[in-house]
Amino acid sequence: MNKKTAYILIAEAEKVLKNAYVPVSDYPVGAAILTDDDMIFQGCNTESVISGLGSCAERNAVSHAIAHGKYRYKALAVVSKDKKMIKPCGACLQVLYEMTQISKNDIDIVYTDSDGEIRIESVKTILKSTIGPEDLGKELGSYRNR
Ligand SMILES: [Zn+2]
Repeated sequence: MNKKTAYILIAEAEKVLKNAYVPVSDYPVGAAILTDDDMIFQGCNTESVISGLGSCAERNAVSHAIAHGKYRYKALAVVSKDKKMIKPCGACLQVLYEMTQISKNDIDIVYTDSDGEIRIESVKTILKSTIGPEDLGKELGSYRNR
């Protein structure tokens, strides 16, 4: 992934920070996912005052892309309101790992470090070992071919 694309993804993720629904944490997070055909879908975090019902920006970006029939991705950017370093949580990494098996490639995670520098690490670099649908014998072809 080149830096120009990384900056574009970060900018797209920043656009949805203002829409985050965060009555519990007051900590908006934005995400933008890049599909294999270069479309971008955004997501922001959503919470509920009922404990445990929230959903992260990253998974919401994936859900947004899936709602548009997009299952194969190249990269995802994540940003926070205070521009501190933020990376996907374990639950989001698990979902993104699953999507690497559909995409048949690793997915880059784009974020800024505490100095504001853009960093890029892949899902499989951050989440070194887990299982996905292929490991459970699931057939993913119907999702790859859409
Ligand atoms: Zn998460």
